[in-house]
Parts: sequence; structure tokens; C-alpha cells
Amino acid sequence: MTTRIEYTNHDHDTCIHAALERAAEICYARGQRLTALRKQVLELVWHSHKPVGAYDVLAMLSKGQDRPAAPPTVYRALDFLQEQGLVHRIASLNAFIGCSCPDTPHVGIFLICEKCRTTRELAHEVGGEASLLPIQDLADSTGFQTRGALVELTGLCPACQLEKADA
Ligand SMILES: [Zn+2]
Ligand SMILES: [Zn+2]
Ligand SMILES: [Zn+2]
Repeated sequence: MTTRIEYTNHDHDTCIHAALERAAEICYARGQRLTALRKQVLELVWHSHKPVGAYDVLAMLSKGQDRPAAPPTVYRALDFLQEQGLVHRIASLNAFIGCSCPDTPHVGIFLICEKCRTTRELAHEVGGEASLLPIQDLADSTGFQTRGALVELTGLCPACQLEKADA
């Protein structure tokens, strides 16, 4: 079974809207406050399916403002969103990406396009679980106590593969 991802032709506003709605529900259920700033930062991270750095968020927030947003407030908002599982940090890019399934505990496995930087979460794309069990088992066998996992796969997304074929 293959699940092809619609990379280019999709209504991204729907993605943003759904993400913000989900975030509001999750924070409400957990008794956490999704302040205006936190919500705004989340929306900026969801700006596209490409990871954004803290400084990008800061620049977007400050655009057209008399008083630019202070870096610590942006960092704190990003920390909060990360704690709540609403965004993931992509270590290799030192950037953040919105999570499509923050209400289910999961291992972050990311498909990162080297060309256009579009980053998709595997679990979401295959509509279910993406498992790291074989790796986890191996790690256990060494006596290592795993506490977290984040896997980054790099390559070419379907759209960039097409572009390559055309050229
Ligand atoms: Zn989208
Ligand atoms: Zn996720
Ligand atoms: Zn690409």
C-alpha cells in the first residue's frame, strides 16, 4: 500500500486552521493557556510545511511592528509549544515544524526534502503509527534506557523528483 502525499496542490489554509483548532482543544483539555502570542507563534511555524528557525519566527512577528518582539518571549513560546507536542524541533536544521497529530503520543520521524526543505511527518502521512521498534529493541539490548527519539530522513520529495525528471 502506498500513500502519496499531496505536496504541492493542497489548501494549506486548511492545515493552518486545523492545527490552531487542535492546539486550542488540547490546551483547554490540559488546563494550559494558549495565549495570543503562543497562538501567533504556532501559526507562524505552520506558515508552510518547511521548518522555521526561532529567528524566522521573530522576524515575521516583528514585521510592521513599532516594537519588535523580544527574543526570550519567542523562545519561551516555542518551548511551550514543544512541551505540549504542538511543534517538533528538527535538530539538524535547528528549526521547528508543526505537528499534525499532537494528541497521540508518537515518535517523530521526519521526511526532509534536501531541495525544497519541505518536511513531513511520517506517522501522519501513512495515517497511523510509524514505529521505531526494531531500533528501540536493539537499543534496549545494549542496556541503554531510551527516553526520546527523533528520526530525520533526508532525500527528495515527490514534487522535487518530478522537477528533476523534467529538467
Ligand atoms: Zn498544508
Ligand atoms: Zn508529531
Ligand atoms: Zn522537495
